[in-house]
Parts: sequence; C-alpha cells; structure tokens
Amino acid sequence: MTVVIVGAGPTGLTLACDLARRQVPFRLLDKAPGVFPGSRAKGLQQRTLEVCADLGVLDAVRAGGAPFPEFRLYRGREVLWERSLSEMLGTPELSASVTVPFPDPWLIPQWRTEEILHRRLVELGGQVEWNTEVLAVDQDADSVIAHTANGPIEAAYLVGTDGGHSTVRKAIGVDFIGDAAESERTLIGDVRVRGLNGRYCHILTGGGDVGQRFSLWNLPGSDYYQFVVSLPAEQTPELTLDAVRRLCAQRSGRTDLELFDLRWISLYRLNVRMVDRYRVGRVLLAGDAAHVHSSAGGQGLNTGIQDAYNLGWKLAAAVDGTDPGLLETYAAERMPVAANVLGLSSLLHQQDFRGGSTAPAIHQLDISYRDGPLALDDRADPGTLRAGDRAPDGLLPSGTTLFDAFQGPHHTLLAFDAPTPNLGLPTLTLSPCEGYDVSPGTYVLVRPDGYIGAITENAAVLAQYLRV
Ligand SMILES: Cc1cc2nc3c(=O)[nH]c(=O)nc-3n(C[C@H](O)[C@H](O)[C@H](O)COP(=O)(O)OP(=O)(O)OC[C@H]3O[C@@H](n4cnc5c(N)ncnc54)[C@H](O)[C@@H]3O)c2cc1C
Repeated sequence: MTVVIVGAGPTGLTLACDLARRQVPFRLLDKAPGVFPGSRAKGLQQRTLEVCADLGVLDAVRAGGAPFPEFRLYRGREVLWERSLSEMLGTPELSASVTVPFPDPWLIPQWRTEEILHRRLVELGGQVEWNTEVLAVDQDADSVIAHTANGPIEAAYLVGTDGGHSTVRKAIGVDFIGDAAESERTLIGDVRVRGLNGRYCHILTGGGDVGQRFSLWNLPGSDYYQFVVSLPAEQTPELTLDAVRRLCAQRSGRTDLELFDLRWISLYRLNVRMVDRYRVGRVLLAGDAAHVHSSAGGQGLNTGIQDAYNLGWKLAAAVDGTDPGLLETYAAERMPVAANVLGLSSLLHQQDFRGGSTAPAIHQLDISYRDGPLALDDRADPGTLRAGDRAPDGLLPSGTTLFDAFQGPHHTLLAFDAPTPNLGLPTLTLSPCEGYDVSPGTYVLVRPDGYIGAITENAAVLAQYLRV
C-alpha cells in the first residue's frame, strides 16, 4: 500500500525524493497550483547541504545559490560597517576539514530549493499532484484515508507536511503548543531595486540603529531582493508596492532607491509552537506542521528537511514490513531537536543582530541522537565519536570519500582494522582516521540518514541490531 504525503513544500518534497529512490509507492498532494514563488527561507545549513549531496541535488543547489554575503550597515547612504553572518549572530564559524566537506551555509531562495527538489523528484519517477487539497483524514487499525476534493485516497501511512496551519495536524487532534508574539510582525517579500551596489545583506537605517532596519538581501542568480522589516503590531501596512516603498524610505532616510516589480509579499506574526506528538496511529507530522519558530538563525526549512530525512528510511521499513517498530523512533529522535530549535531561534530573535553575546552553532552538524532509542554503543571506553552522532566525512585511499560510500538508501558498515562480517551490507575496511577516534577492531554502523546507529567491537551485536 501507498504512503500519502500532504504538502509539497521542502519537507514533503524531500520525503518524496527519499521514498522515490527507495521505490516506496507514494502520492504527494498539494493544494497549490505549483511551486510557491516566494524566497522565504533562504539559507541552507551545512548539514542540509550534506543531505542535498546524498539526494543528488548538491550540484544544482550550488549552481542556484551563493555563499552568504557580508551584512552591510548603512546610516542613510553612508556605510558604517560590514560583518559576516557569524559576527552578526554571534555563532561560531567552522573551518574546512576532511570531516566537514561543506563548512559554510548557502544562500538560495526557497522557491529555487523547491524547484530543484521538484526536478529531482521527477527524475526519480515521482510527481506532485497539484490542486489537490486534503480536507479531512480518517484512520483505523488497517489504513488511513485522505479525503480530497477529488475523492478519497487510501494509504498505509499518511505524513502531514502541510505547513504551520496543517489540516492534517488538526484532523488528528494534535495541539500546537506555544505562543504567538503579540508585539511585533514581519513584513517580507521579493522586489527588484535600483540604486544599491554590491552583493550584501544591505541593512538600511536612517540613524544607524540596527533595530530600526529595512533589510534587502540580494538573491543569487536573480535580480530580486528579499526585503524584511519588523513592525510593531499596531502598524498594519497595505500589502502593496507603494507601502513597501514608503517603509523603505522611512526606515532608510533615502529617496534614491527605486523599488519595483513586487513579486511576493507577506505579513506574518511570529509563532513559537510545536506539537507534543509526532504520530497518531498511521499519521505522522513533519516540518512546519510539527514546529514553527522565528526565522532568526535560518533553521525552519532545514529542520523540516532533516525531519523528512530521518523519516524516509523508517517509513520504507514500515511499508515493506521489515521493521514497523522503527517508525516509533522518529518522534523520539526528532522531538528533542525541534524543542532545541525553538529555544535557539528565540534566543537569536531576541539578540536581533545586535551581537555581543555568543549563541550556539546553527549549522546542525552537531545534532546527535545519542540519547535516542537507536544508539547502541557497548564499548567500555568510548571516544569522542559516539553512536547517535552524525558520521563524519573522510578521505579513502582510493581518493573517494566516506560520503561517496554512504550515498544512497543503504546502511554502510565501517570495519576499523576488523574482519568483514557477513551482514549483507556495503562494508569498508579502514584504519582509525580523522573524525573516527576508535580502536582497531571496532565496527561503526552508519544509518541511511548518515547517523551512526551502532559502535561495537562485536559483530554478533551488529547482527542482532540489524535483525539479520
Ligand atoms: C512568510 C514566511 C517567511 C518565512 N521566512 C523564513 C526565513 O526567512 N527563514 C527561514 O528559515 N524560514 C522562513 N520561513 C519558514 C520556512 O519557509 C518554513 O520553515 C518552510 O517552508 C517549512 O517547509 P514545510 O515543507 O514544512 O512547509 P511549507 O513550506 O509551509 O509547505 C507546506 C505545503 O503544504 C501545502 N498544503 C497546506 N495545506 C494543505 C492541504 N490541506 N492539502 C494539500 N496541501 C496543503 C501548501 O500548499 C504547501 O505547499 C518563512 C515562512 C513564511 C510563511
């Protein structure tokens, strides 16, 4: 039986790509007529770039984006300073190393990320059923039914990736717990601009106060800028180009900039909310349907993509009946991550680019499922790398990389100066190396989503873990 995915945003598209390459039958439904045209989330974090590499879309993402530019603060037309993203956020910078192939985040408008994932889905033989709204969901012990305007669709599982206002979440009676900020709103959109030079996040102010800014981000491969402006709740601008022009002039004190060709505009209120369950029976939630928060630190789209990547291989094991219990681990692993992201983005939101204090990293490479139900590490004296951690990249004597070996929907076994057990898995024999501070004789089992499932010196333990 099939899987129904409700919502073809970045989360639903990622899940669909992963299921398509595993030949799991699915239907991906979206009420919209096509890919959303707005730039919305424009930063792919380092861990997401690794997922993109695995899904075969990294080259397209590279071609369609650019490294994050400097932030440039203006007082009127005068440039006061230029700072990097990490300086603005107070987050640590990563240096390039053999274990981290993509040390920098990547600026790319969400419409292009979605187009790239959509193209990949079609290459893999999948498709989106546009103009197909899910109105209600019913389930019993044997199946789940998505009721659409075009009729019912029966499935083994249904995943709600239908965004913050999720119909699926409401249909299964899951609360969205948290708050909406009453004191502020954000106006955001895409517009073309004449009069600005250089590729920056241009922070326009009249008096040099970052808190009173009108930001204009160059969007790579496009002559559009994303404008972002925070407003007090009592200020309700019209969603028109003239209103945006007036706000820009008020905030920047400039009359020499010409804003034109408004392509997308949205006024939204900050919500910090998440669900207390990711699954009810045969229905699961992922992405914004399960958690929403400030865009500060650019975590939203990235967390949705990671949800989907965590879920894909588990859903495949449930659908083909090899390991239905694996699905239980999805919530156990991803709920703590969402809770953390709510806290991190709220902290960065409060700091509001004023710098000063330090913030935790936003690259998502340090997310670990160490405390989760799938992490097995039975060594008496474990090193830095533990089961549950992201498996680092590494160079192989052949000149290829560990990530090349991990690419695809399979588990990979790393045998560190250990004999190859007969587990029916792709196995690499190698010596302890950078990132892998393990003793000779150790096995490291890498899951399909690039996390370490087990570290052990006992091949029989692995066989039991994999149920082979
Ligand atoms: C105005 C705005 C600005 C944002 N800016 C930023 C930013 O600057 N930085 C950042 O990190 N994040 C930002 N975000 C958040 C980011 O865009 C989201 O985290 C990301 O889009 C989540 O992806 P998703 O696939 O989970 O959900 P979505 O992208 O919301 O996709 C949900 C999909 O489900 C479809 N759908 C909804 N209901 C149904 C239904 N009943 N039946 C069928 N289909 C349905 C929708 O049409 C949509 O295609 C912004 C969000 C918004 C709304």
